[in-house]
Amino acid sequence: LESHFEVRRIDDSSLAAVRNADAVIGVGMPHRMFDGAERLRAIATISAGYDSFDVEDLTRRRIVLMNTPGALTETTADLAFSLILATARRIVELADYVKEGRWTGGMGPESFGVDVHGKTLGVVGFGRIGAAIARRGALGFGMRVLYYNRSAKLEAEAQTGAQRRELAELLRESDFVCVTVPLSPETVHLIGSAEFAQMRPHAIFVNIARGQVADESALVQALQNGTILGAGLDVFEKEPLPLESPLRNLPNVVAVPHIGSAVAETREAMAASAVENLVSYLIEGKPLNVVNPNAL
Ligand code: NAP
Repeated sequence: LESHFEVRRIDDSSLAAVRNADAVIGVGMPHRMFDGAERLRAIATISAGYDSFDVEDLTRRRIVLMNTPGALTETTADLAFSLILATARRIVELADYVKEGRWTGGMGPESFGVDVHGKTLGVVGFGRIGAAIARRGALGFGMRVLYYNRSAKLEAEAQTGAQRRELAELLRESDFVCVTVPLSPETVHLIGSAEFAQMRPHAIFVNIARGQVADESALVQALQNGTILGAGLDVFEKEPLPLESPLRNLPNVVAVPHIGSAVAETREAMAASAVENLVSYLIEGKPLNVVNPNAL
């Protein structure tokens, strides 16, 4: 960055610096930070998701928003799959059992899990990460893949044999339901009590997208009532997960602290991609990874 721009570091106490900036790069930037930033032409977020931005407001103000989607696809799909496996085979619960010295004899049916291989995997949102999860399921674990997406994804269908379904059909037919759809006004609480009720009683729900895509209190009820078998969660309606959340005490939940892309090489690749976005657009005039092309 420093070879192309005059760079200023911004923290909460120096937000005013944004008002004089031509571009901003960072992660977890609150939209209010851009209020009164008359000079701003470009924002590079070091993330794939951009639900924290008011994209319409940026477009109106001709501020170009760029993200880093490709850099974290495979890493986030690995995390999703580890949640599938950990929940199905109760890895966290049973690993604690060993560490706490409670493994004193043979393990009976009360410790049994469910199989992953050969089962049906339903992917809600079939973009980059959804298709990468589907590849793992279809090619690695012999799973049948169903997907729900607003457009058909023919290339990913050809790679994985995935079949497109309406959401209700996917929920009724899947053993694992994995949510990868971005958060937007259309997807807030896309999965609520009616949707959990459509799932199979042995279904496992995995969310690596955004917490608000699922209604968390409906999820807690579904887990407590046995409507579904378990959940693997990387994202929550409120992050960090509040101490009083019932999710913390449910044995059939594997919860991790939003670590989808938390791998050193990947975080470095994401930062490099965000820098490249800025240089390519502002220095070379070639916009890359633009979220709001109408702002160009
Ligand atoms: P992507 O390639 O843009 O894929 C998103 C897919 O969702 C697209 O296929 C899109 O369909 C579909 N979609 C969007 N809105 C929809 C709607 N209302 N109904 C049905 N389908 C809809 O994004 P990605 O890279 O896979 O990332 C997906 C999301 O994962 C991100 O937005 C982010 O929130 C989350 N994420 C989380 C982590 C983590 O750390 N846990 C890491 C990375 C990403 P079309 O192709 O038809 O538009």
